Amino acid sequence: MGFSSLGLLPSLIHALNEHGYEQPTPIQQAAIPAVLAGKDVMAGAQTGTGKTAAFALPVLQQLMNSTNPDSETSPVKAVKALVLTPTRELAQQVHRSFETYRGDSSLTTALAYGGVSLNPQLKALQSGADILVATPGRLLDLMQKKAVDLSTLQHLIFDEADRMLDMGFITDIQRIMKKIPSDRQTLLFSATFNDEVFSLSKTLLKQPELIEV
Ligand code: AMP
Repeated sequence: MGFSSLGLLPSLIHALNEHGYEQPTPIQQAAIPAVLAGKDVMAGAQTGTGKTAAFALPVLQQLMNSTNPDSETSPVKAVKALVLTPTRELAQQVHRSFETYRGDSSLTTALAYGGVSLNPQLKALQSGADILVATPGRLLDLMQKKAVDLSTLQHLIFDEADRMLDMGFITDIQRIMKKIPSDRQTLLFSATFNDEVFSLSKTLLKQPELIEV
């Protein structure tokens, strides 16, 4: 089964072919159609399975097709898709993947993580980002500075949710959620499913499609 049979746009498939991807991996085969259909998804997948493309490709496609205008009253351009990751390294990897797959589309991306100065990230957000990849603590700092507008967010993605909970990010996540509209698509990727992950998913996901590969 090729990428085109999953419903992906030719421009995305072109970017994938340029990077030597010929066949979707099992997690991509299962997740891409569900995400394109607008469903919430809870997916169990380890690193190395192609999980990043499994959410990045269909989210990019939905944003490419979206006609929602930006809010005219907002001082900063509203973020349309937010990916939360537990670590700086994962945030960088996920951001790099979005940059690779977006090809020459006009969608913009930004990256935010702690341990480095805030100002460059503030400036990058001021010039506008459709897609933001962030660690929870730094995202809260940026939200407090009113540098991020999540009020019209359409897609929320948790990458390595189990690690985020292990690292004690639950309070940060709850604070972030207060600023995110409930009418959105939520995707949760986790290497393992334990009680904590299930209870987080219950509060965040609506009738999710469960995918395990
Ligand atoms: P991930 O599990 O998202 O960390 O991806 C693991 C690696 O597999 C990354 O280096 C991706 O670039 C690569 N990759 C993801 N999907 C495919 C695919 N369908 N074909 C070939 N390589 C892939």
